Amino acid sequence: QAPVITIDGPSGAGKGTVSQLVAEKLGWHLLDSGALYRLLALAASHHGIESDDVEALKVLAEHLDIQFKQSEDSKVEIVLEGEVVTQAIRTEIVGNQASKLAAIADVREGLLLRQRAFVQEPGLVADGRDMGTVVFPEASIKVFLTATPEERAQRRLLQLEQKGDVVDFDALVKTIKERDERDANRAVAPLVPATGALEIDSTELSIEQVVDIILSEAAK
Ligand code: C5P
Repeated sequence: QAPVITIDGPSGAGKGTVSQLVAEKLGWHLLDSGALYRLLALAASHHGIESDDVEALKVLAEHLDIQFKQSEDSKVEIVLEGEVVTQAIRTEIVGNQASKLAAIADVREGLLLRQRAFVQEPGLVADGRDMGTVVFPEASIKVFLTATPEERAQRRLLQLEQKGDVVDFDALVKTIKERDERDANRAVAPLVPATGALEIDSTELSIEQVVDIILSEAAK
């Protein structure tokens, strides 16, 4: 079995960028598990499947027709049922719907084997919320990446401003704290550090510093 590095944590901690860079440096595969939940949410809306139709959602999760295509500039293109949805899955609406579906145990179960199928030589970097706790408990390195709610709000604010959106900082901090609370306490796959996880607080660290910590751990 190829080695796995799991990187879990709340949104805004820098998981996505860090995971991508670690995978690139090592020449390993990357699993963006959040994208799977987002793809499921989008597919469900395309097929008119409601969030209370658990049976249909599970079947959809097991049979999702998706591709992660590597394009020439090393960016990944995400294809759902033949349609490029790389940008379409990144909206707030899809994110919220994804997080709703992610609270359903059968949905998580439906995506489990698909996620494990990403493990291929020479190795996998898996980015998510439950990579180290549920999906890859045998991973060689487990990282729990955090940052203070204020720092994560600040990063989110910058992203939103770049898109031309105006948002209130305090409202953003409040939303983030509420989501943390919900994620940590939900019944299925609560967001907690895996046993033996290396906890990294990225509040005062650059992306490069976080990547270096993980790579030096991988080199041991
Ligand atoms: O990370 P991202 O924002 O793309 O994830 C979308 C949603 O999917 C999250 O808000 C979270 O509720 C859910 N998720 C999850 N388990 C994962 C990855 C994402 O529950 N491993």
